[in-house]
Amino acid sequence: MSSGPSKPRDAVAGRRRAVVAALTQRTRVVDYALQRRALLADIRTGRRSLAEACDAHPYLQLAARHYGEPALIKCPVCAKDGLRLVHYIYGDALGKAAGQAKSLAELERMQDDYTEFDVYVVEVCRDCGWNHLDRTFVLGTGDLPRAADG
Ligand SMILES: [Zn+2]
Repeated sequence: MSSGPSKPRDAVAGRRRAVVAALTQRTRVVDYALQRRALLADIRTGRRSLAEACDAHPYLQLAARHYGEPALIKCPVCAKDGLRLVHYIYGDALGKAAGQAKSLAELERMQDDYTEFDVYVVEVCRDCGWNHLDRTFVLGTGDLPRAADG
């Protein structure tokens, strides 16, 4: 094992970890790693077909191409480098933006503009179509929404 000079990939990974840590430090994170592991085990043992697990919708593939952050790990199914993380946002406060995919930079900006919204992180492989909900978390200022007087 040689420890050569740090590669650009490490710098990207470090930057992304920092952004994600900043984004999620004060929020409720739900991790779906157990479900992912179970699903991958089902594929290996044949309980679930590749066609079922690798069925990324064309819109999801499009979002992965335009807004996906490199996952920096190989796809767990095809072992290629096409794995991306797509961040979808949901919440009443978002209006028309609800349901859209956003980059991490956009999420950083948005978290100061809204009281609360949900972020769904979907892992998508651009090579084989594997897709899985990776985790969800909540962003926003945390202020109480202003009550509408009836
Ligand atoms: Zn794949």
